[in-house]
Parts: sequence; C-alpha cells; structure tokens
Amino acid sequence: MRAVTGYGVQEPGGQLRPWTFKRRDLRSDDVAVRVTYCGVCHSDLHAVEGARSGDVPLVPGHEFVGEVAAVGADVRRFQVGDSVAVGNIVDSCGVCAACLDGQENCCAAFPTTTYGGTDRRDGRPQHGAYSSEYVATEKFVYSLPDGLDPAGAAPLMCAGVTTWEPLRHWQVGPGNTLGVVGLGGLGHLAVKFAKALGAQVAVFTTSDTKAQAALDLGADDVVLSRDPEAMAAQTGRYDFILDTASAQHDPSPYLRALRMDGTLCMLGLPERYEPEAMALLGRKNLSASGSGGRRSTREMLAFCAERGITADVEVLPLAEVGTALERLGRADVRYRFVLDVAG
Ligand code: NAP
Ligand code: ZN
Repeated sequence: MRAVTGYGVQEPGGQLRPWTFKRRDLRSDDVAVRVTYCGVCHSDLHAVEGARSGDVPLVPGHEFVGEVAAVGADVRRFQVGDSVAVGNIVDSCGVCAACLDGQENCCAAFPTTTYGGTDRRDGRPQHGAYSSEYVATEKFVYSLPDGLDPAGAAPLMCAGVTTWEPLRHWQVGPGNTLGVVGLGGLGHLAVKFAKALGAQVAVFTTSDTKAQAALDLGADDVVLSRDPEAMAAQTGRYDFILDTASAQHDPSPYLRALRMDGTLCMLGLPERYEPEAMALLGRKNLSASGSGGRRSTREMLAFCAERGITADVEVLPLAEVGTALERLGRADVRYRFVLDVAG
C-alpha cells in the first residue's frame, strides 16, 4: 500500500485535519499521480457538510493536476514525469450504452467518483485529491496540454467539463442567447466557454457586487436575480439557461425567461429543485447534467489549450483548506480556490 498525506474529516461533525492514509498498490492499468494543484469545488463543501451526519472518513478533492509518479505494468499512454489531469469520474462499468458512447458520466451503473464512493474492483473507499498522491486507472487520466497554467487548469476538470458538456450537447453557439445562473466556479467558466463558442451571454447573479466582474469576464448582460422587475423583463428571451446556483432556489423565473422549446439545465446540487408546473408551459424543457464523459473532457481540454482558457483562481496552501471552504460558503471567491498541494 502507498502511504499518502492529506486532509480528511475522520469523525462525524469533525473538521478537515491532516490525515495519513493508504492508497492501493498499483494495478497493471493504474497511474499514480503526485498531486500539485487541486481545485475546491462547492461539491466538496456539500460533502464536508454531509460528513456531519456520518459519511466519514472523507477526503475531498476531484479536480486536480499533477505529475505521474509511477505507472502499472500495462500502462502505455503515460510515463513518469508526465503532466496529467484528473476529474471527478475515475471509473465506470465500461459496457453500457453510455460508456460505449464516451458518456461515462451517464453510466447506467453510476460512475465511480474520485471520492465518496468505492472502487469498483476492490470495494475500498475512494479518497480524493486534497492529498499528496492519487491512484487512478489510466483510462480516466488525461494529458494536461502544454501551455495551460496548471493551477488555472485544475478547475477545468470538474467545473470546466461540467459546464462544457451541456453547452456542447445543446449546441450553444452563434445566434443563441444563453443565461448563466450564479457566477461562481462553474458559472465563470460557463461564461468563458459560451463567449468563446460565439453565444450571447447574460449572467443572473444574486450579488450586485459581481455585475462589473461579469461584464469583465465577457458577459453581454447582467441581471440581478433578486430584482423581480429585472427578472420579469427577461421573459421569453433565452434559448438555454445553465443554472449553477449552489443553494436552494425557485427555478420558475428561469423557465419563464426561456423561449418556446428553450431548455433550463440544472447543474447545482441543492436538495430540491421544484418549479411551478405553470412555468413549464410554452414547451419549456427542464434537464440536468452531471460532470462529463471522457470524450467531452478531451475535447474541452483541447479547446482550452487552443483558446488559452483557464479558470480565474486564488491559490492557497493545502493547510489553508479550512479558509477556502469557509470563504466559499459565503460566496467570497473570484472564482475558484485552488489548493497548492505540493508546495
Ligand atoms: P460556487 O463557486 O460556490 O458558485 C455557486 C454560485 O451560486 C455562487 O457564487 C452564487 O453566485 C450562486 N448562489 C449562491 N447562493 C445562491 C442562492 N441562494 N440563490 C441563487 N444563487 C445562489 O459553486 P460551484 O463550485 O460553481 O458549484 C455550483 C453548484 O454546482 C454546487 O451545488 C455544486 O455542488 C454543483 N456542482 C455540480 C456538478 C455536476 O456535475 N452537476 C459539478 C460540480 C459542481 P452569485 O453570487 O452570482 O449569485
Ligand atoms: Zn466538482
């Protein structure tokens, strides 16, 4: 077994504290990654909050970059020293229609997540990348393209691909009007992607202090979502709305903001998401999307390399993870915390 140091919650209701634990010995198709930078996703915060009710031990972290430290006997695509990136899916059944189509995020047997689940082969709990080293199957390890700043690239692996995949699936591009709800980690990358894809983009924000920042990121319009008059003025304007808000809220105003046949796609993970039935009239579609498959991930990384797109990040040492989560909880981040794990 490989000894790893990281930050974990070890008892229900506990805090993230330094923790030494063991990773599996390398299987023939495994890659050991020395983690250099790991993004702090709001899902990590949801998980730490969930750990209060007993889901422990928990080591968060599911969007990271690093350097290959060792490879299993049958690994061909990577060598020690390669720069790589890993997201929040590290395995899937591999045989269902979704997996065969490169949509492992929609695996009929549910994909294996980077932390919070169990390994498909040995049943051991998976621990995330707020830690010195991660071990993953080669199939779910990606080459980090040259030229992308590693700290800014780490969030591409969750926040990035989670917003990229629906934008591509619904073919958002020139001539489309897109709304992005919530200007956080996911939201700011959605704005960058959608502008690079040629769409007209409006940001719906609860924070009036972010209005100028949204325009600076490239948004064409900003709507203060707590202002009922401003929201009413959006009726019937949008082809597609990506809702990245992390807290519970009423999706009905966003359905009303759609055109006929428009789609509201939920990405955030509040406990409930309950629109008024009437808000769906006018042939509005309500959907959801989770993470991304291998095909989208490769496509997104190539697009980012070509266009020079990375996340806007604030880098903190791993030991300051508590500060990062506390500030994330009050939306005090522009726009993603990234932990410097190796430094
Ligand atoms: P984040 O950086 O904290 O951004 C979330 C944003 O939501 C905030 O910045 C805020 O933006 C907005 N918001 C917060 N409270 C709100 C409220 N009461 N009403 C409306 N908007 C509110 O979080 P993130 O990392 O981008 O993640 C966003 C959500 O997506 C989380 O629930 C996370 O768990 C989930 N997620 C899902 C997937 C997936 O695969 N589907 C992947 C990653 C994350 P404004 O200040 O602009 O209003
Ligand atoms: Zn995430």
